[in-house]
Parts: sequence; C-alpha cells; structure tokens
Amino acid sequence: MAPSMLKSGDPSEPLPLVLIADDDDMQRLLISKTLKKNGFQVREAADGEAAIAAFHEDTFELVLLDVTMPKADGFEVCAAIRATLKGAHVPVLMMTGQKDLSSIDRAYEVGATDFIAKPITWRLLGHRVRYLHRAGLSMSDLRASQHELAEAQRIANLGSWRWYCDRKQLRVSSEVQRIFGIENKEHDLNLNDLLNATHPDDRYVLAELHSRTLEKGEEIAVDIRLNDQTASRTVAVRARTEVDEGCGTILRGTFQDVTERRATEARLHHLAHHDSLTNLPNRSLLNDRLEQALARARRDGTEVAVLCIDIDRFKDINDTYGHNIGDELLIEVANRLQAEVRGSDTVARLGGDEFAVIQFGLSQPRGANTLCHRLLKALTQPYELAGHSIPAGSSVGVAMFPADADKAESLLIKADMALYRAKADGRGTSRFFEEGMDKVFRNRKRIEEDLRRALEGDWFELHYQPQIAVQSEEIVGVEALLRLRHPTKGIVPPLDFMAVAEETGLIVPIGRWALRKACTDAASWRRKDGQPIRVAVNLSPIQFRQPTLVQDVKDALLEAKLDPTLLEIEITENVLLHDTALVLNTLNRLKSLGVLIAMDDFGTGYSSLSYLQRFPFDRIKIDQSFIRELSSNPDAAAIVRAVVALGRSLNISTTAEGVETAPQFAYLKGEVCDEVQGYYFDKPLPYATLMDRLQMAPPDKASPEYAAT
Ligand code: C2E
Ligand code: MG
Ligand code: MG
Repeated sequence: MAPSMLKSGDPSEPLPLVLIADDDDMQRLLISKTLKKNGFQVREAADGEAAIAAFHEDTFELVLLDVTMPKADGFEVCAAIRATLKGAHVPVLMMTGQKDLSSIDRAYEVGATDFIAKPITWRLLGHRVRYLHRAGLSMSDLRASQHELAEAQRIANLGSWRWYCDRKQLRVSSEVQRIFGIENKEHDLNLNDLLNATHPDDRYVLAELHSRTLEKGEEIAVDIRLNDQTASRTVAVRARTEVDEGCGTILRGTFQDVTERRATEARLHHLAHHDSLTNLPNRSLLNDRLEQALARARRDGTEVAVLCIDIDRFKDINDTYGHNIGDELLIEVANRLQAEVRGSDTVARLGGDEFAVIQFGLSQPRGANTLCHRLLKALTQPYELAGHSIPAGSSVGVAMFPADADKAESLLIKADMALYRAKADGRGTSRFFEEGMDKVFRNRKRIEEDLRRALEGDWFELHYQPQIAVQSEEIVGVEALLRLRHPTKGIVPPLDFMAVAEETGLIVPIGRWALRKACTDAASWRRKDGQPIRVAVNLSPIQFRQPTLVQDVKDALLEAKLDPTLLEIEITENVLLHDTALVLNTLNRLKSLGVLIAMDDFGTGYSSLSYLQRFPFDRIKIDQSFIRELSSNPDAAAIVRAVVALGRSLNISTTAEGVETAPQFAYLKGEVCDEVQGYYFDKPLPYATLMDRLQMAPPDKASPEYAAT
C-alpha cells in the first residue's frame, strides 16, 4: 500500500476514504453519517462481493466490515483484501457480536486490525475509527522509513549489531546476516564465534574491540578479512559501549562490507604505481623501491646498481612496423628483463622505451657488469612478432651506490647520463657513470634545446655548394648543406648538431624542412645560359626509415613544381646496412618518381662493391679523405682511379668531394671523373651568393686573384 499522507482536517486535501460493508441498510446509514461527521468520506457496500469489488476500484484508508453478510462474509472479505498488495496494511475494523469470542478470534486470524462490538456505541465509533486511521498512517510512515533505511543499508553494505557482554548474546540486523552469509543461523550467535569462525587469525580483533571500546568508550574501525566458502571479504567494524540498567554492558556496532571498495582502492593504487602496458612498476614505485634498497644497503654496507636501459632506435621500429608491434616489443623487453634479474631486484618502465633495473645486495664494485652483459645479450635476440623477425639492440647505463651518488634521484640521473654515453658510443653497449659525463650530457641537452628552438624560430638555413662538371667546368648542380644560425653563437655547422638531431629524432622535421626548402630554391635557379641545375639533398638513415619519406619527397617536388630529375638524394652506406628489402623498395619508389640517387662518402663505410650492383645508384661521391691524400698516398690515388673505372662500367657517374687544390683537380680530370665539388671552386654559398655566382662566368683558375683565395 502506498503510504497515505492525507491528514483529516486539512481543507486543501481530500478527506480520507473509508469502505463500509454491511447488509443492514440502517446500520450502514448510521455508520456512514457518523464517519462523515468525523471528517471521512465513505463508500458503502451492501454485501461481501460488492465490498471486494469496491476495494479493488478505490483506494481506501480504512475498511469497516460486518461479519455476517450475504455472498461473502466479513472474514472472506477481510482475507481477500489482505491477499492484495494494496490491502496488505490497510486498517480493517471488524464488527462482531458482543459476546461472539470465536468471531473475534477469527477476525484476527484473517488479518483484521481490530474489532468493534455490536451493538455499536455511536458516541465512541467516530473516536475509534479516527484513532485507528491515525495509527494506520503512522504505521505506514514507519514502514516507509524502515524500508528506506534497509535500502540505504543494503546499498552501503552496512548492518548493525548489539552484543550483550554479560549475557554473551548477539543481535544482528538482516543486513549483517546477509554480509556474513548466516541468514539461517540467527539463533545463538556469538560475536566471538562470528568473527573467529570466519577468520581464526583475527581473534585479536574481538579482544581489541572489547578492550579499546570498554576502556576508552571510543569509536573504532577495524578491517577484518572474512573467509566464507566463496571469497574473503573485508568488513569494517565500528563499535561503542553502552551501559543499560537492565541489560548491563552492551557493545553496539556496525559491520560494513567494504570488500569492493578496498579492491577498487587496491586497483587504483596498482594503476598509480605500475605501467599499464607492461605491468611493471613505474617511475614513482621505482623511486620508492630504490629508497628502500639504499636504506638497506647503508645498513648492510653493500652496493646498489641502478641500470637504465633503452631500446636502440625504438622510434624507427614503431614507425616501420606500427604501434601495436612496438607495444608488443616493449612487453617482450619487459619479460626478458624480468627473466634475467633475481626476483628481489626491481625492473621498472620509466616511460617510452626506457626501462630501469635496481640490483641490490652487491658485494663487489662493478658487480653489475655481469648483469649488464646478460641483459644486453637477452635483449639483442631478434623479436619474433606478428610474423616479423625484428632486430633491436639496446644500450645500458649504470650508476653505483655509494660510489657515484647516494640519493635515489641522482643515481637515476647519473645512470641516464651513462646511458646517453652508451648510445653516443655506438649503441648496443653499456657504460658505467664516470665523472665528466655530466658535462657531455648537459652539452647534448643544450644542443637538443637549440634544435627545438631552431625549428620553432626558423633558425635553419641551407647553403649550396656548387658541383662542377670536370670537362666544361660549368656548374651542373649544387649540394644543399644545412646550417643553424644561432642568435648568439652564430653559424653552427651540421657536424655539431647532427648526432643529437638523429638521436632525438629531430632530424625528421629538420630534414623535411631542408627537402622542401632545397626544392623551392632549386626551382628558381637558372644558369646564365638558361640551363636549370640539379640540387642534391642529404638524407640521414633515420629519415630514410620514415614510412612517409617517399610521400614527403613527392610533396616537396609538387609544391616547388620542380622537375624530379633535378633532385638528387644523397644517402650514406649505413642506410643500406639493415633491412635490405625495405631499403631497396624505398629506393625504387624514389627512382620511379624520377629522382636521382647518390651514394655519399663512398669509401668510408663498408664500401661493399655489391651495393653498387644491388641498389639503383646514379652517382658515387668519392669521399674527400681520398682526394686529400691523392698526392701523398698512392693507395688513395689507386682507389680513386678504381672507383671511377667501376662507375663507368656500371654506368654510374662519379663526383669527387673536397677538391681543394689545382693538382687534385688536374688528377681527377685525367682520370675522367665526371664532377667535382670542393673549396678549389666554391665553398657552400648562401642562397643570394649562389644566385650571383650562377650569373657569372666560370672563375678563371689561372688568375692571380683566384689563387689568392
Ligand atoms: P657531406 O654530405 O659529405 O657534405 C660535404 C661536406 O664537406 C660539407 O660539410 C662541406 O662543407 C664539406 N666540404 C665541401 N668541400 C670541401 C672541401 O674542399 N674541403 C673540406 N675540408 N670540406 C669540404 P658540412 O656542410 O659541414 O656538412 C657535413 C655533413 O653534414 C655532410 O657531409 C652531411 O653528411 C651532413 N649534412 C649537411 N647537411 C645536411 C642535411 O641537410 N641533411 C642531412 N641529413 N645531413 C646533412
Ligand atoms: Mg652529402
Ligand atoms: Mg660527402
């Protein structure tokens, strides 16, 4: 039944409705009149069936039933009303004979609320009905608030209990029974038994509960783990003592099942301290563990090693194979690292492709060396992922406690510096921190910062070094060479920043800029005779592995409206070292755009002659170290001669780099090298100077003025 909020006497609200069922017309009339006078509305029924029908149609706040009625007597009507949802709690007043005790009993049996004896004392009827109505309203309010309380307790998983200390008797609410799974065992419950039975180890909880609450009378909260058959639960207990004259000391308390909340907290805690991809501890947990390890090492007089590990060229792997495979590789790295360390050592992921290991309990200096070698070896095995066999080296940097630093933070920084050095020293290797590394590290950081600012602030420029056809001595092309114009340091040459640009991957946006700038500039050049000239652009191996490279080149050509045959891409041998199929594919796609390909610095790397057959080169640039030694080293001269001959036989042009003197040029002319480039003709020139130079006649090498420069 919906709790009625109707209050008789309030003129704004409808009067409470009463059903009167009596087959005696006179009685009905009198009852009806009396009740109306007392502030009720009434509906009448002259027999049992009519009463039941009326009850279904309307909502009554009280029912008055005569016992003897045709069609259905008062008991049947009462039973029928009680069987309905809305009739479960409505007050039913049964009118029985004065001495009819069996009827009175029956009336209660079928659920009547009260009875009224006939003949009716009319003076009292109104009071009686009003009282019953009010009691009914209070009951329904009470039921509603009990319902709400129970609901709230169910939502909060909170139940209340009372422990009569002297009698050792426990009373628990139904929610407590539900939490403990003891719905059917409510008799003879003992608080001790309840807690002990569910968790024998927590016997002390009850003792503590008693002593603390009894002695200090304060509220306490204790979490206990409860093991029922299904799962262990965490229950928070609060209790307070009370002294009752009749019952002695009572411990009143609540149990709250906080299992889910604790689990969520534990999950959040785990998330906050672990890396979600590899599930390894993250930087913050690593710091905690390192602090602990250092504290222990200080006590034991042992050493601690902090190893920073980085996957070499992980960015390339990501770019080449996609992020999913990159992620899988990181997970595999995490597994391999964990497999190599002792269970007590910590492996953490610091972010990106950087991991760290704390190795403690070392008794010898440099005891970490063995671990370094093991880790490097484990990480060097190719990664078999999604059908690819992916090679990936790693570098390791190590800092030792107490030799290098005695604080967690500085140990990590120094291990990172050592890692930086390991990477700079050619990767795939490990380095221990040494004094002085911080200077190198800071210097590199400064360069990195300069590069970022240069990209944002437009500090880069290209200088162009003319390439001269040996026979005509005319300019046939230029090589674009990058410069950084620093606002305070002036012009910075590429050798000062290229390594950092490659390590940080900044070479990718820088190189893309250089490519577009060179194409745009080249589209505007004409020699005095109207002939266009080629532009050569250097590509670093990092750029070369970008999946977007071919598209970048295409875009640069389109944007500049440059004839593709006027663009030459210079690559060095180290581009060719890995993943030959991929490199060949990229080179062929570049060639199909119409672009020319040159092998730069030939002779300095592996110089495998097979490269020249296997890859579609248009030009070999003989490294300047050979040209420099032409006059002093007969081997150098022989090599130059052989390369020129080889080029001719493979139909590949040759350019000699770094030609600085007339004898060098004369020798090259004799060997019919195709082109030369070097200070003997021009240094790399700013754009405007090159424009002027193109309009000039070739310099007269014989003039004394030229010889002086
Ligand atoms: P590289 O491609 O071998 O360029 C030739 C280098 O030799 C240039 O140095 C040039 O200035 C220098 N050079 C030219 N003629 C002579 C000479 O007669 N004597 C001497 N001693 N040197 C000469 P630079 O400009 O300092 O560039 C150094 C390297 O930086 C380049 O070597 C190239 O590998 C790289 N680089 C330059 N610009 C770029 C670029 O835009 N992208 C990429 N990825 N690398 C670049
Ligand atoms: Mg070059
Ligand atoms: Mg070169």
